[in-house]
Amino acid sequence: MHCWDIHTHQAGRNHSIYQAESPANAVEGACSLGIHPWRVDLGWEGEIKRIEECAQGNEQVLAIGEVGFDRLKGSEIPLQKEVFFAQANLAARLAIPLILHCVKSHDLLLAYLKSATNPPNIIWHGWNQRPQLASQLLPYPVCFSFGKQVVHPESNSAKWLAICPIDRVFFETDDSELKIESIYQAASLILQLPVSRLAEQVIVNWNAISKRKIS
Ligand SMILES: [Zn+2]
Repeated sequence: MHCWDIHTHQAGRNHSIYQAESPANAVEGACSLGIHPWRVDLGWEGEIKRIEECAQGNEQVLAIGEVGFDRLKGSEIPLQKEVFFAQANLAARLAIPLILHCVKSHDLLLAYLKSATNPPNIIWHGWNQRPQLASQLLPYPVCFSFGKQVVHPESNSAKWLAICPIDRVFFETDDSELKIESIYQAASLILQLPVSRLAEQVIVNWNAISKRKIS
């Protein structure tokens, strides 16, 4: 049973989704593609077209991401929203998950979810917000990916993992130096479940929300 890492900036690892961002960086193996809110520029429509063509021809593109909203960095919010909506539609068309980057913008995501008629499955990556905010998202197709913060038992990340529905859970290393096994290990202590059970659960969770399966 493999411990899948659903979001990493490290290329060339097995059983992990490499954050390639742009089709030009797509390498062998599973990856995610998308325009990060920090990288939104005027050529975004053409870039989304290229991402779509690449994703259609390459089954290894497992997710659109990381995309989303950031009030601390990046372009103006109206433009971030427009680019997010276009990429959310793309993820829904491809029937693959969207990996979400969301900083100080919980309200923007909620507003989107309340109005969207066909939202994709969204994985909020690096979840480390209050459990109460997470609960507000449960009526919607939102999952949570736990990363480096979860090794700290007092973190919001660890607190939410302890009570989060198990079918909404993923794990990631993101840009940290940690091995994915240490994240699973920390989660295993919090949930009192063996690592192998968590590894299995993550695969089941992924395959429940994506047309492109992992094993
Ligand atoms: Zn990342």
